[in-house]
Amino acid sequence: MIFVLKPGVPQEKIEQFQQKIESNGFKSFLSTGAGHTVVCLIGNTAAIDLDAVVQNNDIVGYGKRVTEPYKAVNRNVHPEDTMVNVSTVTIGEGMFQVIAGPCSVESEEQIIEIAGSVKASGATMLRGGAFKPRTSPYAFMGLHENGLRFLLKAKKETGLPVVTEIMNQTQLPLFEEIDVIQVGARNMQNFDLLKEVGRFNKPVLLKRGLANTLEELLMSAEYILSEGNSQVILCERGIRTFETATRNTLDLSAIPLLKKKCHLPVIVDPSHAAGLRALVPPLARAAIAAGADGLMIETHNNPARALCDGAQSLDLAQFSDLMADLKRRIAFEGKQAIVV
Ligand code: PEP
Ligand code: MN
Repeated sequence: MIFVLKPGVPQEKIEQFQQKIESNGFKSFLSTGAGHTVVCLIGNTAAIDLDAVVQNNDIVGYGKRVTEPYKAVNRNVHPEDTMVNVSTVTIGEGMFQVIAGPCSVESEEQIIEIAGSVKASGATMLRGGAFKPRTSPYAFMGLHENGLRFLLKAKKETGLPVVTEIMNQTQLPLFEEIDVIQVGARNMQNFDLLKEVGRFNKPVLLKRGLANTLEELLMSAEYILSEGNSQVILCERGIRTFETATRNTLDLSAIPLLKKKCHLPVIVDPSHAAGLRALVPPLARAAIAAGADGLMIETHNNPARALCDGAQSLDLAQFSDLMADLKRRIAFEGKQAIVV
């Protein structure tokens, strides 16, 4: 249940209203948008007389029942689009950002070469895994602290903000200088991790789980927002289906649905969705057409020798060609064009 407050209500009156709600055994949180302020009431609200609350509290404009289990991420609660600010880059409605880089940071030279090249092609953020979740315990797991160090060197050289994956909450102190913390598909429902990144003051890129519904993705985002961190970017990266021709199946419907149901930016990772580099450009174009706010594209200086996910990685020239094409389409969609 939400109560939309009248304009210009003083802070102390809002607090008194929240205290009143909480003294009746409910939880509440405040959502402040550009246009209006909303007090959201959480708990079993079935017995509450909504009209009586509006009548008895002169700061309340109107009330509404929110039937979805997610509240903080719900567009009914917060109608304005959330814009996520990553140093000089803004992700959200009306903008378009491309995050590019290798699956894994493999060496200082590798990540610096890739960073310089993808920046020149128009990427606005650099990705690279230092801690890799791998299906096989014998596979390359990333360079760990050294990987983070090399990524930060590439950031220093190019000015690109960096995105990298965290595996568990004990690693958080290592992520102080990282710009965006990625919670990967396999950790989408690691609730302790979600709560901790919710308390950490950094943007989070939350990827959809391999077999998770959109409602589950939104509930995972709700964990982060309910701890106080609203700087969350959702990422559709393909889901498991019966199809084996691709690594996953890109769920394009997720883009408009998520954007309708919640106020967070939605980006698409066509690389992990397809598993095949030839499919990355068409899926990237489809994501733009479906309304995505950005893309995450695995790009490598030598995909044939990549230590992880080479088959789905574009090489630097392929990435550059793709970006030239995407820039035209982004401009066509009326989004702020990528500026190189
Ligand atoms: C990745 O981005 O490198 C990754 C492991 O992706 P996902 O969590 O979507 O599988
Ligand atoms: Mn990968």
